[in-house]
Amino acid sequence: MSSEGPGRAPGQLLVLSAPSGAGKTTLARRFLDRHPDAVFSVSATTRAPRGAERDGVDYHFVTPERFAAWVGEGAFAEWAEVHGRRYGTLRATVEAALARGQVALFDIDVQGGERLKAAFPREATTVFILPPDALELERRLRGRSTEGEEAIQKRLAAAHAEVRRGLASYEYVVVNDELEAALASIELVAACERARLGDGENRSLAAQAARFRRGTADLGAWRDHAGP
Ligand code: ADP
Ligand code: 5GP
Repeated sequence: MSSEGPGRAPGQLLVLSAPSGAGKTTLARRFLDRHPDAVFSVSATTRAPRGAERDGVDYHFVTPERFAAWVGEGAFAEWAEVHGRRYGTLRATVEAALARGQVALFDIDVQGGERLKAAFPREATTVFILPPDALELERRLRGRSTEGEEAIQKRLAAAHAEVRRGLASYEYVVVNDELEAALASIELVAACERARLGDGENRSLAAQAARFRRGTADLGAWRDHAGP
């Protein structure tokens, strides 16, 4: 029998990953604005706050010592080192969303997404977001002007490997060219996968979402980053 019971929406872990600067934070914010019942999974990190970021809202900003203690206690569902800093998803955040039957949105890197998918194969949906091309990625990173030149170069260098890995393991791929169109694609994928978790597959949604399945999705300028 389903643990959700009749009428109760199932919890869904919607994982959004992308090379830094592709626009996933923007897309995640828009998604949350349009779906007030969805929650953002606030990760813990050892990096410093940027711009207007707030503790407990964008991240739990913690010391390396606090982070290490949480690792030791098994408090993380997954954690990873990204760009020289540590980031992790707290187990309690995942469990609370699932218990409440909520859609939880994760803005985490590919390693984290893969681990979450392995730990919650049924509930997790992984979506990889691509910028239109590498030049536009650089333009967006610089346009955001939240990092210094060294950090921008680090992120650009990491982007190609991140794209290769995402295209090899994520379930869905969405190109963030026009923001509204990308958002609509993510909404479609989320709705399709949530229907599958609940009352069973919705064939019409599944047929539409199939366009974004890895292996089918149009990768545009990133075609040569997909494996053989
Ligand atoms: P990420 O979270 O992936 O690092 P952000 O959401 O911070 O990326 O976006 C990086 C920059 O690109 C921001 O300045 C954002 O406003 C801009 N941006 C995001 N999506 C688009 C888009 N579809 N078209 C143009 N600019 C975008
Ligand atoms: P930023 O410093 O730009 O906020 O994030 C850097 C990278 O860390 C992004 O790719 C972001 O998705 C990833 N990240 C943020 N939180 C987590 C987390 O909890 N786990 C993992 N694995 N990656 C995270």
